[in-house]
Formats: sequence, structure tokens, C-alpha cells
Amino acid sequence: MQFPNYFADADANFDEADFVIFGIPYDKTSSFRKGSIKAPDDIRKASWNFETYNLRTDVDIKDLKVHDYGNLDVTKDNPSIMIKKVRGFTSKILEKNKFPIAIGGEHSVTSGIIQAYPKDIAVLILDAHMDFRNIYENEKYNHACVTKRISDHVSIKNIVVLGARSAEKEEYIDAKNQNLFYIDSFYIKKNGIKKAINEIESILKNKKIYLTLDIDAIDPSYAPGTGTPEPFGITPFDVIEIIDSFYSNLIGFDVVEVCPNYDNGEASIIAAKIIRNVIEKSSLVI
Ligand code: MN
Ligand code: MN
Repeated sequence: MQFPNYFADADANFDEADFVIFGIPYDKTSSFRKGSIKAPDDIRKASWNFETYNLRTDVDIKDLKVHDYGNLDVTKDNPSIMIKKVRGFTSKILEKNKFPIAIGGEHSVTSGIIQAYPKDIAVLILDAHMDFRNIYENEKYNHACVTKRISDHVSIKNIVVLGARSAEKEEYIDAKNQNLFYIDSFYIKKNGIKKAINEIESILKNKKIYLTLDIDAIDPSYAPGTGTPEPFGITPFDVIEIIDSFYSNLIGFDVVEVCPNYDNGEASIIAAKIIRNVIEKSSLVI
């Protein structure tokens, strides 16, 4: 059976939609494995696997107004042009009071999205990596610098990195010196995701939260198809717990760094299901 080339059941038009999905097929700065350029369409394909009704959230996506814009034309741009286009398109969505859902692409795309938001938001980053280098391979919009770029726009005290377990030493020391709050995956394994969530809640209080999911936060045994896999990750259940805990404050979401060439579709399936969960839970409060 041939499925449509848009995200499953996202058949509202832009004007009527509450949620706008858009793909950002960009992987120019990826360091280890390229291929996240293919993720937006692969995740769309994977999304048709699921029933429209989700037993867990008791929401049927058919009842929601979701638009899939397609992909932004950024593939060949240099990073700063890509960032500008992403910021511009995200602004259009926010001006109309719609909820943006972006599908990367590599993690650098999130820098552009965040620039479209007011500076007083909080950003919750799920990632195996700190991404806190100031510059990498002569490029400040490299995907290894996204947390740093977010901190150019949003106060570092309103940023949380969850699931981190990899950093370069200099980057780690800089993050420590600047009091970047992070919770590593080993702490979560030992103390449980609930304890981590309580700590995040006390830091982000009742702020509006943008959530960015670098799929490599999740253990590569669940989601092998990613650019820089890092063992000892969090689980897809942990991600669902995060969404369930913060959905009433969420103001946008992206999933990045899925690299479909490197698995049998697992990473795209998980990404598609998590997108569905974000939309379903957020629909309860918009
Ligand atoms: Mn990342
Ligand atoms: Mn990462």
C-alpha cells in the first residue's frame, strides 16, 4: 500500500491547524555519519504505521488539526543561511499562535528555531552530548555547538540538558563554569526518571518550555539510526515520562539526528511515535 508523503493524519491546512509539522533536511555539519537529511521523509513514512487512536493518551489524532508543511528548502545552504530560514519559518508559525513541530536534520537546526522565540523561555534538551562547544570545525552553527547557541539567546539558567553522557573535556569544564544544569543518563538509571523530573521542575518552575530531542539521548539499542551513537542512554519510556510531566508548559518540539541509513527503521519509528505523543498531550491544553 502506498501511503501519502505527509505525516500521518496531518491533513489540516496551515490556517486551520493548531500544530504545524515541518521538515528540515539538513546535515551539512554532521561529523561522524551523515544521512539525517533523509529523516523528515523517513519519519513521515514511519508515522503511517500507527493507529490514529492512541490507547495510552486516549486521544485520536483524527480529531486534531495538524498541518504538515513539507520540508524547508535548506539542504544546500551554508549553516547561517539555513538558520535564518528556519528562524523565519518558525516565526510565521508562532505569529499565528500555532505549535511548531520540527523534524531534523541535524541538531544545529534547533538554533534557528529557538531564535524565533522570546528570550524568557526555557529549553529542555534531551541529548547524549552536551553540544556546548563554542565552535567546531570552524563553524559556530555546527551541530556540536547547539546548546551553546541556544545559550546565546536564552539565559543559561533556563536551559537543562538531560541524558548527557559525552563531552569534550574543555567543553565540559566550560559547561561547569557556566553552571549549565545537566542530568546524565547514569544518574537517571540509578535514581529513576521521576527524581530527574522533580529536579528539572524545581529549576524550570512554571516557565514555558521548548523541548528538543536529539534521538541519540535514547540508547542506541532502541534507536541505532543516528549520527553519533553513544551507549548507555535513556529509554523511550523516559522520554514519554518527560512529555507527560511537562506537556502543559510545552510551546514547541523538535526531533533531530535520526539517520535512517544506519538502522532498520527503529529510530524513525520511535521519533514518529514521540511526535504523536507530543501532539496528543499538547492538544489537551491548547
Ligand atoms: Mn545534539
Ligand atoms: Mn547528540
